[in-house]
This record gives sequence, structure tokens and C-alpha cells, in this order.
Amino acid sequence: MPPQCPICRSGRIAAHHTGRKICTSLGTVAGAISGIAAACSGARIGATVGAIAGPAGSVIGGLAGALLSGLAGGIAGGSAGAALGDFVDESILDSFECLDCKHTFSGNRA
Ligand SMILES: [Zn+2]
Repeated sequence: MPPQCPICRSGRIAAHHTGRKICTSLGTVAGAISGIAAACSGARIGATVGAIAGPAGSVIGGLAGALLSGLAGGIAGGSAGAALGDFVDESILDSFECLDCKHTFSGNRA
């Protein structure tokens, strides 16, 4: 449901996602960092599983394990950051702007 201007009741509202953008980037970086830590254990698991297929399998398994863990960490961190950013946008920042009277307000107070 689109928000309404609390001053002039206009429905012409622009939403800024400043908090969301910042938190998504921060979350992706933080997630990738923790993903790198997880990648070490992912690589070990992958190498162990791949070892069944021989030495080559061990290398491929280790790489696949590390890649998947790092990627999963980045994605998880990014979506957690986006959710946090949405919360910040809606409850803390004045993330909505009325296009008619230029009043800015947060989704909470609307
Ligand atoms: Zn307005």
C-alpha cells in the first residue's frame, strides 16, 4: 500500500531507500567475510567428499565447497542487510518525500 502525505494527504510519494542501499552493501561485505571463514570449512568438507573420486576430485570438491560457502555468506548477508535497511528506512530515517508539498516523513509516522 503506498503511503500518504501526513500534511497534504497527497498520494504522490517518492520513497528513498538510503538505509536499504547502505545496509545491503554492508551486509554483503560482512556476509562475504563470514562466508570466507565458512569457506575454509566448506573447502575441507568439499575436499573430503571429493577425495572419494581421487586427488582431482579432492581439489575440485575443495574449490566448489569454498565457492559455495563464500557465495552463500554474501547472499545471506546481503538479504539480512536489506531487511535491516528497510527497517531503518521505515522507522528511523525520513525515507518518504511528498512530491506535492516536499514534506519528508518516515513510513511509521504516516
Ligand atoms: Zn504533502
